[in-house]
Amino acid sequence: MMNFDFTPEQEMLRQTVRKFVDKEIMPYIKEWDERGEFDRNIFKRLAELNLMGVCIPEKYGGMGMDYNSLAIVCEELERGDTAFRTAVSVHTGLNSLTLLQWGTEEQKQKYLVPQARGEKIGAFGLTEPNAGSDVASIQTTAVRDGDDYILNGQKTWISLADIADHFLVFAYTDKSKKHRGISAFIVERTMPGFSSRPIKGKLGIRSGNTGELFFDNVRVPKENLLGEEGEGFKIAMSALDNGRFTVAAGAVGLIMACLEASVKYCHERKTFGKEIGRHQLVQQMIARMEAGLQISRLLVYKVGFLKNEGRRCTRETSLAKWIACDYANQAADDAVQIHGAYGYSNEYPVERYLRNSKAPVIYEGTREIHTIMQAEYVLGYRQDKPLRKTLPAWRPAEN
Ligand SMILES: Cc1cc2nc3c(=O)[nH]c(=O)nc-3n(C[C@H](O)[C@H](O)[C@H](O)COP(=O)(O)OP(=O)(O)OC[C@H]3O[C@@H](n4cnc5c(N)ncnc54)[C@H](O)[C@@H]3O)c2cc1C
Repeated sequence: MMNFDFTPEQEMLRQTVRKFVDKEIMPYIKEWDERGEFDRNIFKRLAELNLMGVCIPEKYGGMGMDYNSLAIVCEELERGDTAFRTAVSVHTGLNSLTLLQWGTEEQKQKYLVPQARGEKIGAFGLTEPNAGSDVASIQTTAVRDGDDYILNGQKTWISLADIADHFLVFAYTDKSKKHRGISAFIVERTMPGFSSRPIKGKLGIRSGNTGELFFDNVRVPKENLLGEEGEGFKIAMSALDNGRFTVAAGAVGLIMACLEASVKYCHERKTFGKEIGRHQLVQQMIARMEAGLQISRLLVYKVGFLKNEGRRCTRETSLAKWIACDYANQAADDAVQIHGAYGYSNEYPVERYLRNSKAPVIYEGTREIHTIMQAEYVLGYRQDKPLRKTLPAWRPAEN
């Protein structure tokens, strides 16, 4: 049976996040964006509202809601600003859900529980100066030394680099095996030899922290190996399935924000004796935003449904992420166009939307990578095989 209605719990969640965004983000976001920083207490508030582990089972410190509830949180947060959705994407999508899928019981107790409660912040370190789309080109190494691994290398463009407490870090344990020689590690900021530094001068997501990570002989206990040696590439890709779902959901929120601002302006601004909303070419832009919103939302909730069922959905997630982010980028461009010259200044929020909409077209698989993936699926060059560990299906009684 297909059901497109939200449950009362999901409706309540949406209202909670919307109220939080309207009260605690909207009034300050212009200033945070200008200053290139935000109030870190926002994470405390998100934790108080249980938003840092919304779809993590209660037994691991989360709220035990379904995966589409995570999508709702991401939509509503990005309606406020991309930076806060990005934070949830890396903390919950890329890190916590990966621990839920691949972690041992001890790792879940030690790292997932405090993350789901929002007491600790998680992030995801895959990209390096010479390796973004081409993951197998990473150079960070992890060499076994007794009961530990010694990590050396560098990561770049890492969201929450200067804020997170725990990082999932990908490093070669055996370079000769190419991507099958990559392993995943849980690294703590306090481990000696770890350091981070912010990246300045970003086009968008200015109120969010992005930076570099450095590993100088960081000693990581073998208990912090996630999965098995050589499973890191698969773990990274499955983490991206979760992250991309949240990015796609956030893109829906950005389109909502573009529509809200544009509809308001269409009624306020008059040219040639009528509201600009009466001009057909302006209507075309509004219609394109609406189509983007509805199409993207359906793709996102379909992925949420498949996740709830416990089915692998790499293909559907890639499609949702690609299409939703492209529509959001187009919607933000249209929103600026509708505002004319006023859209070109930060007197209105739409210029921020346009700047923010670009990174999601680049991160978690560029537009080009997703285009190729979709073609390869259709042509039969790519298939998804079952993984050794799967993300748990959502079962209300168990959560
Ligand atoms: C704001 C922000 C936050 C980020 N946060 C994180 C994070 O938290 N953790 C993390 O690990 N990374 C993060 N990233 C990094 C991001 O995931 C990478 O930037 C992304 O994977 C692309 O890699 P790249 O920048 O090296 O581009 P490249 O891989 O060098 O690509 C450059 C261009 O070539 C194209 N291209 C590459 N290969 C192909 C191909 N085979 N066919 C066709 N075209 C191709 C790309 O589409 C792109 O247009 C973040 C990036 C940004 C901008």
